[in-house]
Amino acid sequence: MRLSRYFLPVLKETPSEAQIVSHRYMLRAGMIKQQAAGIYSWLPMGFKVLRKIEDIIHEEQAKAGHIAMQMPTLQTADLWRESGRYDGYGEEMLRMQDRHGRDMLFSPTAEELFTDVFRSHVSSYKDLPLTLYQIQWKFRDEIRPRFGVMRGREFYMKDGYNFDLSKEDALHAYNRHLVSYLRTYERMGLQAIPMRADSGPIGGDDTHEFLVLAETGESEVFYDSEVTDLTFGDREIDFDSVEQCQAVLEEFTSRYARTDETHDEALFNQVPQERRRVARGIEVGQIFYFGTKYSDALGATVQGPDGKPTPVHMGSHGIGVSRLLGAIIEASHDDKGIIWPEGVTPFHCGIVNLKQGDEAADEACNALYASLSALGLEPLYDDRNERAGGKFATMDLIGLPWRITVGPRGLKNGVVEVTCRRTGENTEMPPEQAIAKIAEIYGKVAG
Ligand code: ATP
Ligand code: MG
Repeated sequence: MRLSRYFLPVLKETPSEAQIVSHRYMLRAGMIKQQAAGIYSWLPMGFKVLRKIEDIIHEEQAKAGHIAMQMPTLQTADLWRESGRYDGYGEEMLRMQDRHGRDMLFSPTAEELFTDVFRSHVSSYKDLPLTLYQIQWKFRDEIRPRFGVMRGREFYMKDGYNFDLSKEDALHAYNRHLVSYLRTYERMGLQAIPMRADSGPIGGDDTHEFLVLAETGESEVFYDSEVTDLTFGDREIDFDSVEQCQAVLEEFTSRYARTDETHDEALFNQVPQERRRVARGIEVGQIFYFGTKYSDALGATVQGPDGKPTPVHMGSHGIGVSRLLGAIIEASHDDKGIIWPEGVTPFHCGIVNLKQGDEAADEACNALYASLSALGLEPLYDDRNERAGGKFATMDLIGLPWRITVGPRGLKNGVVEVTCRRTGENTEMPPEQAIAKIAEIYGKVAG
């Protein structure tokens, strides 16, 4: 993309309404625009990162054997009356009526809808196990929407639902989701720690929340510092293997790590004092096992191996897709702007032309742009007639992890400059080498 042709409405002033750094940078970098309290338009660059996050989630869900589909955002109240949650859900549910006076609502979550699809189409244990999910907009009329996309009223969520014949199978689904989520967050450059949590209105006993440590997090968390040493890395896992998924669960959840809702001071005190940590965290996901709560209420049964109707065991699993943008920025920025992890960056690298209109510089930039694009990479070429300082400030603000700077003086010596956004390290090298370096970082092979 050439910046002169893109739509990147960068703000010079720091917006006064933004209290935390991710909100400030998302507004300043032209990623979102507020339309009402907790409701945002996603401008092109914000939308691009949202899509990258979504792609990672879809890829990792597919690896775990989960099946994507899409539910409507508007639902009738009837299903929620059937499950008994319509009255109980409270003020967070946005309720409305259609022209016939029928009660409708904007989905705050979708246990009922998925259970309804299941009960309509699945009747035998032979069709199990089954895990269906969607990535869809949700609405919760939060009392205090704040911090930009972190606590919106309209927000984008991945929500998945497993249907299993037995508790044992459903617990395997739970463990499989835990493993799959660990991989998902790591690919986004995040450490999200699974913590024992409280189930809230979804219900059930077994639940873990995934928290990203950040001073601006809304949850108070208590943990053994050893949990921050754990990484899933690129190990291979067979998601069908009960033992393998169980082993990962044990590895990642055996040390003390809890949110304030489930915190137990006596247990915490058994952790050696030098490893006890109290901090703040951002909840980026949660997994639940809730047994037959919804299948009982909505009559979701299958014919079991013995021929008898058996209610299915279920769980649900959520990732805060739009909140993740804020969480990633909270975890990865400096005083000049965002620092995108390579896995979610909106463009793979920036190209800065120090002297637009200089024949050699223009030609070298065009050649870099063409070569990187041919490798399947997306560079953002700042081809505007602007001062170098302004171009650098924009690149730093929008946080592309790599920048190639091209100027007439360097070109005379046959070099361009490659800059790492995270470390600020600059290296001069010939353009071909710069291409090879960027290609290698993103796992592409330069020709
Ligand atoms: P919270 O405790 O933060 O209100 P929750 O536990 O009610 O969240 P879940 O039902 O577990 O939320 O939803 C799954 C994920 O959706 C959460 O882990 C979170 O990342 C995200 N999420 C929930 N509420 C919001 C919101 N208002 N704005 C943005 N993301 C949200
Ligand atoms: Mg939650």
